[in-house]
Amino acid sequence: MYTCSEKKEIGTESNKRIGIVGIPPLAIIQRLEAAGDTIFDLDEPIVKKDIELASSYLPRVFCAILRTVVVNAISLKPDVIYIDVGPGKCDCALHTATILTDILPETTVIPTRNHDRTDFGTPLCTARMPLLDKLSAITKSVQSARPHLELPACIPTAGFWGVPPRDFSLLSLFPETTHVFGWTRCMENKTPDHQQLEELYNPDIPTIFFAQSFCAKTALARHLAKKHPHGLYVDCDVTAGNSAKAKIQAFLELSMPQKPEISNRKSEFCFFSSDLPTF
Ligand code: SF4
Repeated sequence: MYTCSEKKEIGTESNKRIGIVGIPPLAIIQRLEAAGDTIFDLDEPIVKKDIELASSYLPRVFCAILRTVVVNAISLKPDVIYIDVGPGKCDCALHTATILTDILPETTVIPTRNHDRTDFGTPLCTARMPLLDKLSAITKSVQSARPHLELPACIPTAGFWGVPPRDFSLLSLFPETTHVFGWTRCMENKTPDHQQLEELYNPDIPTIFFAQSFCAKTALARHLAKKHPHGLYVDCDVTAGNSAKAKIQAFLELSMPQKPEISNRKSEFCFFSSDLPTF
């Protein structure tokens, strides 16, 4: 079940153009799939326009994901936007929902609060795959209510903790044997409001704790990076600059000497194994 303050009930005609921000409750995704609607993930850079376009509506010093949402929304003008304004997303999205409602009078903006608790599992997070492809597949998977395909878990040599970055190019720096943690793991599990899962990490593998600049998750990312025996905190704004990329590259290269004990690493470590789904 979900809580959804649907201010204006949408019609039943099919093939609407739907924008989503964050992860709509599963019941909504099921309805959109059944109607054959076209879904645009507004969190991702879809339209090739300058992010400065958002500055008329949002401060420049603001999360680049939500600035991207505004650029996409004013360019694509979807029929309906479902925007998660609850703990599965953030207060910045709550305020962005108000702004979108005001600046897009022809679009029905529907705030949702996703409290879904059904664990779908996280096979992509632990599979062997280029990290960029893996995060693309995870972000795409939120548009479907279908169960995930089973994939074998690889032995991890690195960890990526955090949200999908606005600039995916930094993901190409990671090895294919990178396991994914943080809110991205919550995404694949279809439980965006799952604090324990979000705080999970594997202390046996060097891990980058990533957050978007100006996001409240910077606090958690930095805190967990300090607790982790081999963690590095990185935040990026609109694009991942050379210095952030160099930091990540150096950290990963220095962290992964070909030591025999790497092969003895546990495939996954779970701090909260009694409460979390098994992976
Ligand atoms: S990165 Fe942080 S501030 Fe930006 S949309 Fe995600 S949760 Fe909100």
